[in-house]
Amino acid sequence: MTETSPDPAQFRFPARGYAFQKYVDCHNWIDGAFREAASGENTAVVNPRHGWPMGTVGMSDRADVDAAVQSAKAAFPGWRATPYKERVQVLYRMKQLMERDLEELCWLLSHENGKTYAESKGEVLKAIECLEMGCSLPNMIGGPQLDVSRGINCSVTHEPLGVCAGVVPFNFPTMVPMWMLPQALIAGNTFVLKPSEQVPYGAMKLALLFKEAGLPDGVLNVVNGGRPSVEALVDHPDIKALGFVGSTRVAKLVYGRASALGKRALCLGGAKNHLVVVPDADLELASATVAASAYACAGQRCMAASVMVAVGDVQHIIDGVAAKARAMTLGQDMGAITNQSAVERITRYIDEAEKAGATVLVDGRGAEVPGNPGYWIGPTILDNVSPDMPASCEEIFGPVLSIVRVRTLDQAIALENKSAYGNAAAIFTTSGGTARYAVERFDAGMCGVNVGVPVPREPFAFGGWNDSKFGHGDITGVDGFRFWTRPRKVTARWELSSDATWMS
Ligand code: NAD
Repeated sequence: MTETSPDPAQFRFPARGYAFQKYVDCHNWIDGAFREAASGENTAVVNPRHGWPMGTVGMSDRADVDAAVQSAKAAFPGWRATPYKERVQVLYRMKQLMERDLEELCWLLSHENGKTYAESKGEVLKAIECLEMGCSLPNMIGGPQLDVSRGINCSVTHEPLGVCAGVVPFNFPTMVPMWMLPQALIAGNTFVLKPSEQVPYGAMKLALLFKEAGLPDGVLNVVNGGRPSVEALVDHPDIKALGFVGSTRVAKLVYGRASALGKRALCLGGAKNHLVVVPDADLELASATVAASAYACAGQRCMAASVMVAVGDVQHIIDGVAAKARAMTLGQDMGAITNQSAVERITRYIDEAEKAGATVLVDGRGAEVPGNPGYWIGPTILDNVSPDMPASCEEIFGPVLSIVRVRTLDQAIALENKSAYGNAAAIFTTSGGTARYAVERFDAGMCGVNVGVPVPREPFAFGGWNDSKFGHGDITGVDGFRFWTRPRKVTARWELSSDATWMS
């Protein structure tokens, strides 16, 4: 196992365009230095636009996880004893560094994930917004205190838990870690982050920048790998709480495993988001917004529109969405699919829906981008999808919009309510009454009115319902802070001569 102190120059990512660029091999980040995985195993980090490896990433086992946890455990007493006002300075400096390196972070993200530069910029800016939320927490979370009786005072403080862990997915390698780190670190915890092995560079860069921002070594560690590293984290007796973001299948497994060990866990899963469009919807706004929701990040986001529920005669809006989809230039307006097996999965959903009687209104199968031999599917619209087809109820996680036609708003709401998921739902209408009627009846944690991606902006918290989230509370906002802390209640008497009982 080798250990390397970072030389920042070595980790500069020079690309400022989509041309293929090789990068470094990615190692674990433990105690403020890089360490190769003990197993000696690694896997390729592939640029999805080109299909070529940028470098490799280590595949960690229990020994690596234990080394990271031990480092975080040793750093905990010092970080916990650091006052809030000093901890937050690290986040302020981190914000400045992310802004300094914005272009580099965006291009690196685009290369490892396959999304466009504009989408990458949106992600990094949102990550910075999450960081800003962390910066404001010390001004928001001062616990209440009250003289509850004569001479008796009650107060509450939110105490850190110790060593915490976060496991994150491939589709937002820079933003999703920032759903967890600001709240967890501000609270005084130390942390072990496990990025997706497909896109480890975003977390690696964040670790380097946090060090430059003055975060003490050991407070943030990064362990790379797949399932064995996650299981080792969940099982580790010194991990006190775990945040997870990924598919529903794995979220359920991780939540079950952590809960069986009596651990605090919050596990966000997949989605099947319904956008309901009624005839009085604004044509331009609805068609542009539905298309943007379905195709940004190539549909690989948990907030993407995947079902458009067309209520009554909204043919003009369907035509509008189709026109937007056909006008997109693949490779410029929409990025690549994460890997070949995802291309095959998405293609299979389209093939099967077509075989079952759906109309392929816009067909992205077999799309290519000249000079970019990676993984592509163009924007796709399946019309006349019936509610029992897998394309209307399973998560496809690609640029496929399934249109289900219904006669009434109540039928649209019933369809949305039938979904096992509950991440997001939206209504497109120019009637306030219709909007309110729908939102009150959607079975989803994040609802939109004429908004296709109703991600709550900070300080509002992010989190779905049903099979889109296992555990209590939301992952961001003040809820996130509560998740990574435990309240200590103190009842104190300092009026020593009082003849009153504490109940008086
Ligand atoms: P994934 O579930 O395959 O992987 C997520 C993380 O879990 C990765 O770090 C991976 O290494 C690890 N992992 C994979 N298999 C595992 C196993 N068997 N046991 C333990 N750990 C395992 O998800 P993904 O493909 O990286 O991301 C896409 C999914 O994430 C989609 O379903 C998407 O909807 C979901 N997602 C949800 C949200 C949300 O906020 N609800 C946000 C982003 C992505």
